Amino acid sequence: MKVLFTSPEIYPLAKTGGLADVAGSLPAALLREGADLRLLMPAYRGVTETLGVRPVASLGDPFGTGPIAILEGTLANGVKTWLVDNPALYDRDGGPYQDQDGTDWPDNHLRFGAFNWAAARLSSADSPLAWHPDILHGNDWQCGLAGAYLAAWGEQRPGLLFSIHNMVYPGMFPPETVPELGLPWSLYVVDGVEYWSHLSFLKAGIVYADKIATVSPTYAREIQDAPNGCGFEGLLAARARDLSGILNGADYKVWDPGRDPALAQPFDDAGLEAGKAANKAALLQEMGLPPSKGPVLAVVSRLSEQKGMDLILSAMPTILAEPETRFVLLGTGEHGLESAFLALADARPGQVAVHVGFSEGLSHRILAGADILLMPSRFEPCGLTQIYAMRYGTLPVVHRTGGLADTVIDTTYDSLLTGTATGFVFDQPTASALQWCAERAIGLFANPAQWRKVQDNARRQTFDWEASARDYMALYRRIRPNVAVARAESQAHV
Ligand code: ADP
Repeated sequence: MKVLFTSPEIYPLAKTGGLADVAGSLPAALLREGADLRLLMPAYRGVTETLGVRPVASLGDPFGTGPIAILEGTLANGVKTWLVDNPALYDRDGGPYQDQDGTDWPDNHLRFGAFNWAAARLSSADSPLAWHPDILHGNDWQCGLAGAYLAAWGEQRPGLLFSIHNMVYPGMFPPETVPELGLPWSLYVVDGVEYWSHLSFLKAGIVYADKIATVSPTYAREIQDAPNGCGFEGLLAARARDLSGILNGADYKVWDPGRDPALAQPFDDAGLEAGKAANKAALLQEMGLPPSKGPVLAVVSRLSEQKGMDLILSAMPTILAEPETRFVLLGTGEHGLESAFLALADARPGQVAVHVGFSEGLSHRILAGADILLMPSRFEPCGLTQIYAMRYGTLPVVHRTGGLADTVIDTTYDSLLTGTATGFVFDQPTASALQWCAERAIGLFANPAQWRKVQDNARRQTFDWEASARDYMALYRRIRPNVAVARAESQAHV
């Protein structure tokens, strides 16, 4: 089964969120399941040097931005990776989607249009490469348009799987981008790429896919309804038979507190208590907070309304009533939220420390040194941070939604007795519900024996990629039942 797996971000090459982690680890698990897979991502600035690449194909200059080339390298996990190279579109400072000030790139339609055009070209009979995928597996709106190109070209095409990691980004652009992207107006219809008088990459992804996947069973149900369907609920409900929810896994090689090079003191089960204490002391020191015997609450997150950050801001003054309680935050995002958290840190200098920025190392140290992770997302397709936190013995406080509902078991009298409790879950996305739930967690923290029991349960949870990779392979086979799953011997050559 030959799979071209396209993603706008891949850890460790480019990362703004969970999709990078997925693209950095699911493909390796698919290889182990017998897929013959290539990853495809734009060649953002600096990525070619990190990967170490050689050119393997030239696709021409469809958009007048200079020639599009395909560069090939191999990730440390053994996955062969192709980069779509076009310096005018991708070789610039800033992030994959936004400039350094957090403003969307004005030519994102072209940047990701060209990326999709290249994916489609490599999947078509016209590809200059001998390797032709049986499945084109796209991820999120940035990969949604490839199916539209293939439909426009009307050629034989591979099976199309489209994975949705977040419905909230429709990838919408004004109608004049349709001809600019080389798409025929015949596709700009309600059954095609048109959405509220705009071109929507996300809609194209859904419409042209043979099957649609999202990243947790609960989110797969939620997006068939308002508000989580974000306007696409009717379309998704109509395609319910083609829609599945496959839970993300974690890469426990990267997220292993026993062997984590970022930590002050790596720890295992036997050393849990001492390890947590050492990492907590180091974290408080690193964040400039005084030592404490009280709980350390933490956030590692994009700062957005989706993530319920405003709820944390409202609830925090009450949660911090006890002076020994500490709160640390690592995040970037909406400027208003960044300033509000910085103001909270200013107002409570001994209790709250805020680091605005993106830091892989600090994110590991926070998950190791904190006691409680706050993740009150209004909606959460899967969520990975709570999964990582559990492995680090940091108990999550989460809103019962999407993947958070599927991965965290609330601590109740019953779940404590049966040894199934792994965190704290609340039902309404309100500041008071969050506050009560955080206070329940703080209450249990005061009982070290019970706390340890829940930590042990949480640390035992394994959300690895093997089971999920098998589910994706089963989906590929449902799309292309006649393709054999040969072991990936053709990894050696293009
Ligand atoms: P999403 O993809 O919606 O942002 P997830 O929980 O699925 O949320 O994944 C978030 C990923 O990004 C996790 O690996 C988390 O540790 C990481 N992350 C988020 N913000 C930061 C940050 N400021 N610095 C470092 N890592 C971060």
